[in-house]
Amino acid sequence: MESTESGPEYARVTVRQLARAESTCPRRLDLDHQDTRANRGANRGFRVRAQIEADARLAHTGFRRPDAAHFRATDDLFPEERQVYETAARWYVALFGDEPMAVADIDTHEFETIARRTGVRLVGGAGLALEAPEGRRELRMLSIGDRSTEELLDSASVRFALLRRPDWTRLGPLRVVRADLLGGWAVAADTDGAELWPDLREWLQDRVSVIRAHADKRRPRAGWECARCPYIAGCAALR
Ligand code: SF4
Repeated sequence: MESTESGPEYARVTVRQLARAESTCPRRLDLDHQDTRANRGANRGFRVRAQIEADARLAHTGFRRPDAAHFRATDDLFPEERQVYETAARWYVALFGDEPMAVADIDTHEFETIARRTGVRLVGGAGLALEAPEGRRELRMLSIGDRSTEELLDSASVRFALLRRPDWTRLGPLRVVRADLLGGWAVAADTDGAELWPDLREWLQDRVSVIRAHADKRRPRAGWECARCPYIAGCAALR
């Protein structure tokens, strides 16, 4: 698995596809998997999380404790997004302000990793990979209003994040922390990335097979997801 180049021969795979292929409309899944141009309106939770994560990444340049001065909402956020951002920033500092940690995988591409063996590009943000001065490693997954009850190491987003940074993951023991910055809670689980790696790779292969089996742009299936579908324009199911 490599993380440095892109190419049109690699289909796009996201956390959403991996987690929900079976329940997604086959047309939407196919067009997304083939990276077809779409009207992608970024949702608000995503915009705030992306900004908090970017600011936290800067705060952890070198072994530093994050504090309030590291978090400043930018002008492109709407007023209600700024409120969410400010709450999320306060919780980030409250949950993680005691320990100096540094970003540990500066070579990981910001948006995508090529999984050459599986023939796909893993596209999307993947949390923060951090390291403490004494060498302890942590994958920090941030959310805004997460209600997931899934076991941490079983969740598609955690597996995706570990697969997005193969070199770092395979170094060995690490802690996975999921923190919700609206609810103000965090949960953690310890694992060994080197031992876990074969399972992660097999899981990816299986899930990509499911995506490929279900994706079919000739079979639109109208339902609740149409309202937020980026491929609604031109969809025959809604004519
Ligand atoms: S608009 Fe609805 S039916 Fe059409 S592709 Fe999107 S989700 Fe499927």
